[in-house]
Amino acid sequence: MLGHSHALSGLAAGAATLPWAPVQGPVAQAAWVAAAGGMAMLPDLDHSGSTVSDMWGPVTDVPSGAIGRLAQGHRWGTHDALLAPLAFGAFALAAADAYWSSLLLLALAIGLALRALHFVIPGRAENTVVGNLVLSWGGAWLLLDHMPPPAWLPWAVALGVLTHIAGDAITTQGVPVPVVWLVKRCRLALTPLKTGTTLEKAVLAPAFVLATVWFVYANTGLQDAVAPWVQELRSLG
Ligand SMILES: [Zn+2]
Repeated sequence: MLGHSHALSGLAAGAATLPWAPVQGPVAQAAWVAAAGGMAMLPDLDHSGSTVSDMWGPVTDVPSGAIGRLAQGHRWGTHDALLAPLAFGAFALAAADAYWSSLLLLALAIGLALRALHFVIPGRAENTVVGNLVLSWGGAWLLLDHMPPPAWLPWAVALGVLTHIAGDAITTQGVPVPVVWLVKRCRLALTPLKTGTTLEKAVLAPAFVLATVWFVYANTGLQDAVAPWVQELRSLG
């Protein structure tokens, strides 16, 4: 799927899983949804020169080249439905321990989400290296400043990565058969859907947006917050 479809599906997955997410309060809930959305871009960091690996210039491009070699190529290791969530989750588990590394991880998630969703964001700041760095690190710092340490980060990372793999599994290119591909390179594709088709752009992407809005409304305090207004409107009618 296209980058922004992945980010949107990650946001929807983050919002849908809020009732089970180990987060409390609106700030942490927002961070959970944002992290799931951004981390749904993570598996495509497996080839240097891609939009997401260009995000922070060499800071993201060099590691992404290394990730690609480690994963044995684009759409292989980082798209393994079993190994990838485990590997990225373990990495996040180590990072969630210290303030600076959770800041880095949250900033990475926000940066990736901004980069993927640039077409709905006014201006072009988030697409420049400096603009993206300022927005994502500022946002991550703001979130971390208003919530307890995010011990839940590994779960959000695993959820985002898994959502990405599920998204690619329904395209013709498919994803590697988990673990088996290490021995014998074989792939799994659930549908003959091509990446970037009208169906993806006109049906899937808007569906993810609607799902995100609905789940945020249903799973957060938002419902209670607007309840008096609904009541008011009803009494008027
Ligand atoms: Zn992918």
